[in-house]
Amino acid sequence: MNQLLDRAQQLFPYTQRIRRDLHRFPELGFQEHRTSGVIARELENLGLEVTTGIAETGVVAQIESRHPEPVLMMRFDMDALPVVEETNAEYASQNPGVMHACGHDGHVAIGLTVAHLLKEMRNELNGTVRLIFQPAEEGLDGARRMIAEGALGETTPKFALGAHVWNEKPVGWLGVTPGPMMAAAEIFEVEITGRGGHGALPNLAIDPVNAAAQIVVALNAIVARNVSPLQSAVVSVTSIRGGETFNVIPPKMRLQGTIRTFEPEVRSIVLERFEQIVNGVAASAGCEANIDLKSLTPAVVNDAGVAQQVMNSARMILPDSTILSDFRTMGSEDMAFFLNEVPGCYIFVGSANPAKKLDAPHHHPKFDFDEAALTLAAALLTGAAVDLLS
Ligand SMILES: [Zn+2]
Ligand SMILES: [Zn+2]
Repeated sequence: MNQLLDRAQQLFPYTQRIRRDLHRFPELGFQEHRTSGVIARELENLGLEVTTGIAETGVVAQIESRHPEPVLMMRFDMDALPVVEETNAEYASQNPGVMHACGHDGHVAIGLTVAHLLKEMRNELNGTVRLIFQPAEEGLDGARRMIAEGALGETTPKFALGAHVWNEKPVGWLGVTPGPMMAAAEIFEVEITGRGGHGALPNLAIDPVNAAAQIVVALNAIVARNVSPLQSAVVSVTSIRGGETFNVIPPKMRLQGTIRTFEPEVRSIVLERFEQIVNGVAASAGCEANIDLKSLTPAVVNDAGVAQQVMNSARMILPDSTILSDFRTMGSEDMAFFLNEVPGCYIFVGSANPAKKLDAPHHHPKFDFDEAALTLAAALLTGAAVDLLS
């Protein structure tokens, strides 16, 4: 299998060229027209049949072997973020205000490299690999739309794989975690209505500012008092707005924030307590609360069996890597929707290199990573696919 790593390394100039080209021309979710064109062109150059225009800019192609089944799907996201790049890299964004600050340019490059490797290894393949290039991962519902528009194909895949370059960890590190590994994300907006009045006559008003402040503090009790100390959750109020000036009590206040959980039981306790606390505290202040709670993504849950097989493949293909099997993050990812449909494994691939100053966090204007991670990811995904299908 180490031939696979060698071959992936030979393809590095290609991988790097694709990644840097996409990095120069980043596109926001559902607007990835140029990106989509690059993907389709490269896949067609390999002689693959390509379907474009799924969920606007999504692209799907299949590597087929003598055995049509089972099918294994791999998903690569392709959107950039509204961030002004500050890396000074020679391949920095030429699209002002838009930047590949999460590494999805790298994910596309990994996907196209995997296509090359699998095409060459077709004779060793006992099934079909379906490559899914997905738009709009960054909170825009791209995965759900891809699935709704038929990205999974006629034969539902038996396995799903995907990977994210991960700058919290150095290149050479892998996170392959069975079970929940990225959080379910909800976003909330709360409107607190009181009665406005003069700042000097609070007794004649019903003060929503005071109510909002008490709600923010009271919400901390959920994680502290309702979630088991051995489990995790986050309740973050990230915006509190209302009022214009010092002597007017405003009639309304607005809170916004996010809730993150892993286990469905914890999620329902947190959501239930959230509503009780917001409504209860608002009522105790004489105000009314209106809660708008939206689920963004479910938790990313890896299938234990598939994760174990990926771990075995990783030890063979990347024997020098450090593999962690219990790494989890409160970040969220819409790969969760694919993994709800198909048992699979989402892999974190360490990509930081502090010595080269390539270690800024994801979504930061100086985000950049060690491109060696792309080769490791491509070799691992290819090898794991061949192993899972055999
Ligand atoms: Zn991101
Ligand atoms: Zn991302």
